[in-house]
Amino acid sequence: MAGKMKASVLHKKQDLRMEEVAKPKINDNEVLVEIKSNGICGSDLHFYEKGELGPFKVEKPYIPGHESSGVISEKVNSNSVSKIFLTDFFY
Ligand SMILES: [Zn+2]
Repeated sequence: MAGKMKASVLHKKQDLRMEEVAKPKINDNEVLVEIKSNGICGSDLHFYEKGELGPFKVEKPYIPGHESSGVISEKVNSNSVSKIFLTDFFY
């Protein structure tokens, strides 16, 4: 479960960097999705261009993107997550 992965990290406006980050740790009732494709939406563009969107400001590094697809790459407990299987496609 431990390890690293690559991610685009937005540090502040117009400062997006490809970095190695810690791979998320998952709980018994969660799965890990290896992202294969990620859309860029209007909110991502605002955060990149202006560093903010309405009341939300980029105040610490974060990984943008919330319109993704990928495959299930890890799950811990087969009983808790019984209808999702490794390599299932998720979108
Ligand atoms: Zn969106």
